[in-house]
Parts: sequence; C-alpha cells; structure tokens
Amino acid sequence: MIRVDRGAAPASLESTRVAELSRVRGLAQRDSKALGNQYRVVADELWRRQFFKCAYCESCEQLKRNDVEHFRPKARADRRPGSSETHGYWWLTWSWENLLFACRNCNQSPAKRDQFPLAEGSAALTPEQSPPGLEQPLLIDPATESGVAHIQFRPVSSPGEHRWKPFPRNGSAKGRATIKVCKLDRDDLVELYSRHVREDVERRHLARIRQAHPASLRTLWDEAARELLARTMPFVGLSYDVLDSVFPPAERERLRLALPALDEL
Ligand SMILES: [Zn+2]
Repeated sequence: MIRVDRGAAPASLESTRVAELSRVRGLAQRDSKALGNQYRVVADELWRRQFFKCAYCESCEQLKRNDVEHFRPKARADRRPGSSETHGYWWLTWSWENLLFACRNCNQSPAKRDQFPLAEGSAALTPEQSPPGLEQPLLIDPATESGVAHIQFRPVSSPGEHRWKPFPRNGSAKGRATIKVCKLDRDDLVELYSRHVREDVERRHLARIRQAHPASLRTLWDEAARELLARTMPFVGLSYDVLDSVFPPAERERLRLALPALDEL
C-alpha cells in the first residue's frame, strides 16, 4: 500500500462541494441516500491519477462498479476503539482530501464499510470541523503516508505452497488496523499476491538476478527495482518486501544494491 498522489483538486469538485454543502446543511437527516453521489464527478480523475489501482490493496481495477471511497465515512462512522461517537463526516463528502479510488473488495462489506477506527485518547471531529483535530486515525491514509512503512509482507509456508501475506511492520498499530479493516489478508487477494511474486517478480526478475554474473548484478537489480516499484505497477508494497527478503540490507550494502527507504514509497 504505497502513497497515492492525487494532485490538485479538479475545479468541478469545488463547485459541487459548495452547492451540496448548502443543500445538505438544511436537512434533518444526513444518511447515505440524502448525501447522494455527486462526489462521483471526480471518479474518472481519481481513477486515472491512481493509475487505475485501488488505494488500499494496489490491485488494478476497472472504474465502473468500484468506489469513490471516503477515507472518513460520509454517513455513519464506527470509530471504535477510540470513540463511541457514530456520526458520519457528511461535511467531507465532497472534499478532495477525503476521496480515494478503492475497489469494492476493500471498501464494502465485509471489509471497510463505515469503519474508521481511532486510537484511544482521540476526540471525534465535530460537524464541519477540519481534520485532523484531535483524531488519531488507526487507518492509514494512503494520500498522506506510506502504507509500506506500516505493513510488511512475509512468506508463510504451508504444505506444498509458499504464500505471501501482510503483517504489521514492527508491530505497527496502524498496520494491524488497516489490514483488519480492509481485509488485506483475504484469501483470494493472497492468491493474487502469490501469483504476482511467482510470475512478475520471480520469473521476470529474480531468476535472472540469481544466475547473474557479478558484473551485471547491479544492472539487473536496478532494472527490477525500477520496474517493480514504479507507482503504476500493482502490489508495489509486496514487491518491495520480496526484493528486501532476497537481498537483506547488509547484503545490499556489501553488493552496493540500492532500494528506496520505506517512507519513500
Ligand atoms: Zn482494494
């Protein structure tokens, strides 16, 4: 789960935001139906700017039937364990900083839905208050921080197979919560992770690197890192940890092989 660069807000969103906020402020009930879906005016833009990838699982997805996701849920929010308040962030429904492209598997039931866990000691934003206030979200916001710094992929062996699964990096509470909320360890996604490692990382790159003459090792390594860690590629966080496991830091230093720092991804 790498950092997402949405760029500047499209002008179409601001006029929608002003009109919709004015309409919704007058409503007694601000449930999902009342809030509508005018925020989808930026669906196409978000999808392209995220290189067609879900902000959470990094799968490439088609636009239609997938979601313009509200990082802070719009109509209702389950903020446990940090707060028992359940009001939604209706005033952020049309805010560019709160919108991401996400796949239905990460965003809808049984995954994220309206979950927005806060750390103990947080105070939920009050209506029309700008984030972050005194909130300490446990969910990683891919637009502001690198999920790679919080989530680590490790191989898990079971009889006859080798699967790569996500775990909290160095016990990160945010990593743990994000994996749980978005179900980043769901079985079918884990199969896609393993296929990516097998086909795209191992077969295309590591097989050549393992057999490389020492003189060409660095060239092949740089090519693998450049290709696999490009923001346009699926599963960049996973590729990083596979490369890191093949040549751990001490080995990379000895062979003078470069890999970006965790928070650069
Ligand atoms: Zn996803």
